[in-house]
Amino acid sequence: MNTLIINEIFYSIQGESLSSGMPTVFIRLTGCPLRCQYCDTAYAFTEGSKKTFDEIIGEVKKFNCNNITVTGGEPLSQRNTINLLTLLNDLSYNVSIETSNAVSIKKLDNKTIIILDVKTPASKEADKNIIDNYKYLKSMDQVKFVICNLDDTVLFSPSYEEMDIKILAENMLKDNIPARLQTQLHKVIWSDERGK
Ligand code: SF4
Repeated sequence: MNTLIINEIFYSIQGESLSSGMPTVFIRLTGCPLRCQYCDTAYAFTEGSKKTFDEIIGEVKKFNCNNITVTGGEPLSQRNTINLLTLLNDLSYNVSIETSNAVSIKKLDNKTIIILDVKTPASKEADKNIIDNYKYLKSMDQVKFVICNLDDTVLFSPSYEEMDIKILAENMLKDNIPARLQTQLHKVIWSDERGK
C-alpha cells in the first residue's frame, strides 16, 4: 500500500538552496539514520503518523502552490518516498528533495531536484557519506555543505585548463567563502604527462 510516515506538511518560504525565497509546500517525513550534532529537526526522528498518498496529495493541493520540497529527517529512509516523488512529478509539481547523502539517490526520478547535504567532519556523521551518490547528480541538482568550524574547510581546486584560478579566487573573495584555494600542482609542473 502506498503510505508514508509523515511528520508534518506545511506551507512556508524556502529558506535555503537556489530556490530560496520561493513559497513552497514542505512534506517532512519521519525518520533519520543519522544524528548530526547540529540537527534542528530531531522531532522528526520518531514523531509522525501514517498517511496514504491520496491523503498527502489532498493536503498538498490545499496550499495551491506548485513548489514542493520533500525533507526530513532523512526522507529516503522510507522506501516509498521514491514513489511519492514520481507521483508529484507526474502531477506537474516542481519537486525537490533535501537528502543527507547517507542513502542512495540512484533510483530517484530524474525530474526531482536533489539538494544533497554532504556531511562535513564537524557534523560527526561524515563517515556516512555515500561517495557513489555523486555520479548520479544532474546539472540541476545542488550540493550543500554545512560548515561548523575550520575542520570543515572545503578545498576549491580549479579544473586544469578549464577554470581560471584567478576568476575562482576573485569569486571566493567577493562571496567571502571560507574555503581554501588550491591548484593541481602536479599539472602545473608536468601538465598532463602520464605517471606524474
Ligand atoms: S541528516 Fe538532517 S535530520 Fe538527520 S540528523 Fe542530520 S540534520 Fe538531522
